[in-house]
Amino acid sequence: MLKFDVLIIGSGLAGMTLALHLAEHRKVALVTKRDLLEGSSTYAQGGIAAVLDTGDSVEAHIQDTLVAGAGLCNEETTRFIVEHSKEAIDWLIELGVPFTKDETHKTGYHLTREGGHSHRRIIHAADATGAAVTSTLGQKIKAHPNITLLEDHIAIDLITSKKLGQPGNRCFGAYVLDKQADEVRTVAAGHTILASGGAGKVYLYTTNPDTATGDGIAMGWRAGCRVSNMEFIQFHPTCLYHPHTKSFLITEAVRGEGGILRLPDGTRFMPAHDARAELAPRDVVARAIDFEMKRHGLDCVYLDISYKPASFIQEHFPNIYAHCLELGIDITKEPIPVVPAVHFTCGGLVTDLSGHTDVDGLYAVGEVACTGLHGANRLASNSLLECMVIGRAAANEILHTQPVELPAIPSWDDSRVTDPDEEVVISHNWDELRRAMWDYVGIVRTNKRLERALNRIKLLSEEINEYYSNFHVSNDLIELRNLVQTAELIVRSALLRKESRGLHYSRDYPDMLAEARDTTLSPGA
Ligand SMILES: Cc1cc2nc3c(=O)[nH]c(=O)nc-3n(C[C@H](O)[C@H](O)[C@H](O)COP(=O)(O)OP(=O)(O)OC[C@H]3O[C@@H](n4cnc5c(N)ncnc54)[C@H](O)[C@@H]3O)c2cc1C
Repeated sequence: MLKFDVLIIGSGLAGMTLALHLAEHRKVALVTKRDLLEGSSTYAQGGIAAVLDTGDSVEAHIQDTLVAGAGLCNEETTRFIVEHSKEAIDWLIELGVPFTKDETHKTGYHLTREGGHSHRRIIHAADATGAAVTSTLGQKIKAHPNITLLEDHIAIDLITSKKLGQPGNRCFGAYVLDKQADEVRTVAAGHTILASGGAGKVYLYTTNPDTATGDGIAMGWRAGCRVSNMEFIQFHPTCLYHPHTKSFLITEAVRGEGGILRLPDGTRFMPAHDARAELAPRDVVARAIDFEMKRHGLDCVYLDISYKPASFIQEHFPNIYAHCLELGIDITKEPIPVVPAVHFTCGGLVTDLSGHTDVDGLYAVGEVACTGLHGANRLASNSLLECMVIGRAAANEILHTQPVELPAIPSWDDSRVTDPDEEVVISHNWDELRRAMWDYVGIVRTNKRLERALNRIKLLSEEINEYYSNFHVSNDLIELRNLVQTAELIVRSALLRKESRGLHYSRDYPDMLAEARDTTLSPGA
């Protein structure tokens, strides 16, 4: 058994922020299922929203967030996060993150604009902000003597007093599969943080990396946490459409800098859908693209920035330019083929402003959580900000609590399971689940489709749980069990919402109700 003061599950921006804030005073284990830098945070392109310019204001950023969230954002959470935005960016600058500079601007940095924002307030490192942030923080993590980094370790389930047959419900760490040694370890800790990211892989097409399998949401749910607003799945309107590339995002900033969406014949279509045209929030743009693709029977639409000077495009979007060029698309001369794909999980484990969940000693920070910031639709570039502000608040709270005495914890018991006989069960169910979610729980929903999805999910769930009870765990099995659990929570939440709001659009209930309510599910209810 490994013992730490704090166990952090996930090494994206949320996990890294917590680790660095805690490590001066606590022994920290940072467990991550691939390598340190693999996760959505590293793939973030556009940047981080923050109130940095004197011409901008906290009130304006809050207002933009509330408008995008379609009446469902928690105002207290939104204010808390936006008010701490400058402090979060100052911390990154102090650590040495190389944000793109602009000597002509009074902040000294180039601030870009994205859909739904009323000001230029997105600080960025060219078009690879996430990589610049996580590689800078990652170096500090690797060098820190109080942080034990366990790469290639996947958390299976949380250890709670309830599961140990003791009173109350407090978390004492997790069982974790060391993938290289193929051995389950007990990682015990007084405080545990789920920083395991979102669940984009529940769907067939997503901009998310392979790590985004809803593990933290499913683990938290099994441990006794409530989830909220799981029906709000954000589709990014512009994912590159090309047979030889997987999940490559064309950042919002391309539209922010003047990119125009066109049909194959060159017709611009966004002004007919929304007065804000290409700068409308993501759900509006994604639905418009979905509508045009279905109406004209298209495989994709086109995003055109080629009318801008080539030097401007190469300077602002060097990675997108290079990646497209490798595929034979010169974006300085021709439009980019794009389709919508699942991008962000707005809902998650219910937490307060310090990342506290319903289970004592258990926190959830980042995309795994539902703090109320994103409401029914996330405003672009608010999520990295949330990782840092709530991460810091959770660390502060943990630093102000007494160290916890750990109980005796039994080792992982695999005496009654054997090696899997038919691995095809995993790959088949994985594909079936993701396709069912894509076909029946997509951008436009109906009761009938949701019920179809739920029926399939129930069957898949039974089969996967039976497999899990009988065979040794593996990375794919752990992820599939979590995917199916997360899918069920999304569909159940979608069925409960009898209106269309933000990212949830139902043909059976096309109108928005006067009162905005969270959809909250409780385990065991
Ligand atoms: C392509 C792309 C572009 C984006 N661009 C932006 C942007 O410009 N601005 C913005 O604000 N947001 C952006 N987002 C969203 C943002 O990147 C994410 O919401 C944010 O990075 C989530 O951070 P996180 O720390 O919660 O999770 P992640 O960064 O996804 O990290 C999760 C970590 O948990 C680990 N993990 C998961 N399950 C387990 C387990 N069972 N055991 C152990 N480890 C586990 C993963 O390996 C990973 O290390 C983008 C997202 C994508 C996919």
